[in-house]
Amino acid sequence: MAIASLIKNFVNLIYPLHCASCKKPLDPENDSAICGHCIGLIKPNPSPYCIYCGRSVDTAGCACDDCLKNKPAFSKAYSACLYEGALKELILQFKYGGKLTLSDGLSCLISDFLYNNPDILEGIDMVTFVPIGADRMIKRGFNQSKILAKHLSDSYGIPMVDCIEKTASTKNQNELSRQDRLSNLKGAFRAKSVVNLTGLTILIVDDVMTTGATLNECAIALSRAGAARVRCLTLARGL
Ligand SMILES: [Zn+2]
Ligand SMILES: [Zn+2]
Repeated sequence: MAIASLIKNFVNLIYPLHCASCKKPLDPENDSAICGHCIGLIKPNPSPYCIYCGRSVDTAGCACDDCLKNKPAFSKAYSACLYEGALKELILQFKYGGKLTLSDGLSCLISDFLYNNPDILEGIDMVTFVPIGADRMIKRGFNQSKILAKHLSDSYGIPMVDCIEKTASTKNQNELSRQDRLSNLKGAFRAKSVVNLTGLTILIVDDVMTTGATLNECAIALSRAGAARVRCLTLARGL
């Protein structure tokens, strides 16, 4: 252990580790991939939340305009932080830059949020995650949402089941307008027949929620397969 630590300090001396967000050298004693300053810049999703989609609203106990027009298929969604600044940078590095070392720190943000909002896990039978298409899986080599869901499953002892599959290749949601995002995904997901979902309360984990279209379609797929309730939890909420 002492030798490992010596080697680590030696390596850090020659190749100092840098904060994944601001790129300044990290304290060699710091095991995190981000510096304390950048952690402090990550903004929590401010309450009160829309009673359905978890977006920040002005008055507690209200639904946002989008949910009033179209009530989502999930019973409730929650997001830990806002998708901007240092966190946005870190999620992009995690997802597209393959920086899997960031997953511990990002999962901590979810754990902190769950610590303050323990109701989210109440009655949850199973944790699952938003799948990515086969083409993206080949390109990226991993599913970031599955990694976050696995952390949660291990930390809270709730089984994780890979029970949603993508049945259609869809365009990248980031490149589409709100209306196109909604129609792009219609019917693109299906529940796998790996387990009987009848009567279960399921939590779907994803990295970022923007319009909620993806989570909505996944919730429809699980409900069709018999799930009694579907909740959603994302690390970040896009504005
Ligand atoms: Zn930094
Ligand atoms: Zn809403």
